[in-house]
Amino acid sequence: KNGVVIVGTGQGGFQLAASLRQEGFQDAITMIGDEPGLPYQRPPLSKTYLKEGRVEAIQLRPESYYERNGIRLISPERAIRIDRAAKTVETLTGGSIGYDHLVLATGARNVIPPIPGLEACNVHQLRTAADADNLRSALVSTRNAIVIGGGFIGLEFAAVAASSGHRVTVVEAAPRLMSRAISPDMSEAFRIFHGELGTNLYLGCSVAEVLRGDTGRAHGVRLSDGRTIEGDLILLAAGIRPNTELAEVAGLAVSNGIVVDAGLVSQDPDISSLGDCAAFHDLERNCQLRLESVQAATDHARTIARRLTGKAAQYDALPWFWSDQANWKLQIAGLGHDADDDVAITRPDGRKLVFRFKVGKLLAVETVNAAGEHMAARQLLRYPGGVTAEALAARDFDISGLAK
Ligand code: FAD
Repeated sequence: KNGVVIVGTGQGGFQLAASLRQEGFQDAITMIGDEPGLPYQRPPLSKTYLKEGRVEAIQLRPESYYERNGIRLISPERAIRIDRAAKTVETLTGGSIGYDHLVLATGARNVIPPIPGLEACNVHQLRTAADADNLRSALVSTRNAIVIGGGFIGLEFAAVAASSGHRVTVVEAAPRLMSRAISPDMSEAFRIFHGELGTNLYLGCSVAEVLRGDTGRAHGVRLSDGRTIEGDLILLAAGIRPNTELAEVAGLAVSNGIVVDAGLVSQDPDISSLGDCAAFHDLERNCQLRLESVQAATDHARTIARRLTGKAAQYDALPWFWSDQANWKLQIAGLGHDADDDVAITRPDGRKLVFRFKVGKLLAVETVNAAGEHMAARQLLRYPGGVTAEALAARDFDISGLAK
């Protein structure tokens, strides 16, 4: 038996291998990953790992774990083609690996917008541990950092760079920070917070060009309104795109991700997909959805592991997310992107919460430095039938007791 082959040794790929063994899966497990080293967590790359660079601290498990659990790790190696009829995966170095079930856990890569000058050597990205290592050493000899993109990763980097004495400028094309993921009220709270950290924010403007000198190094950017900003390090953090090429070439449906059903199975019953690269059928909202979070990747993996060990399994976990920016921990329970009403609350001790509603029903809760309320919100959002704005207003939006 060929067992399960997993392409991608990131968060979701690792979790799938681990969960398969936990669920009692007996056959072979093979993981193919194009990054060197053992599977690791990405979130610390823009947080502690960017500061400290301790590889052991981000590795998901030590090497012995894979040996002990019979998980074969092939890396660095790239899967380049799937032969669905023969049920094999071809690799860049000429290997051919047979599977009974294949899981595409290929993640995503950074969007490269058409901005002239991005090829300059001091323009950085932050997706892999190698990127974080480059960025850490570049920060040592630079003073002014410019971040293209005011999303989670750009702002987490900005907070680290500002705290280590760098002058930081963030340029965001949307009129507010993290606009795809959080409420206007929470964006505004973070705008003020980053301003207090000393970061310059340019909102609602885009970078038209990276300015380069004779040496080819970037020394700043020109904005679309003609203004220029000086900087000796540039981070491109303008969003990601799912890695779907393997699926496309294999003739599987792709639409903003590899199309899978609520059980994470693609059009081919022998191929599943998970995490950042998967557009899954969301049971709650009855639509295809793609999430970019550790929670989604790990819960997808658990779902697939249960299915592959003969248990009925569909992905119906509540999405949640976090982002650490300096001493602010933002936590989001639920998905609020199509909210039509928000209630923003500041507790007497300064903690901020935003409750997001659609037609009077609670969709999501955003909190800062309020872990208890975040956990309570996760329970609340699981209430059968949902929770109304009226019911929450009646208890003054005090949900902390509900966590018990
Ligand atoms: P990944 O973990 O990206 O793994 C995919 C792997 O597949 C990669 O190693 C890739 O190189 C490999 N691969 C791709 N194609 C091939 C191929 N053809 N052959 C072999 N290997 C291949 N999420 C949160 O919830 N909270 C956070 O605070 C947070 N912070 C983040 C900070 C940073 C800097 C980054 C980059 C991400 C952060 N995320 C955070 C997002 C989170 O890390 C991802 O959502 C998660 O890693 C997705 O897991 P995945 O398994 O789908 O993909």
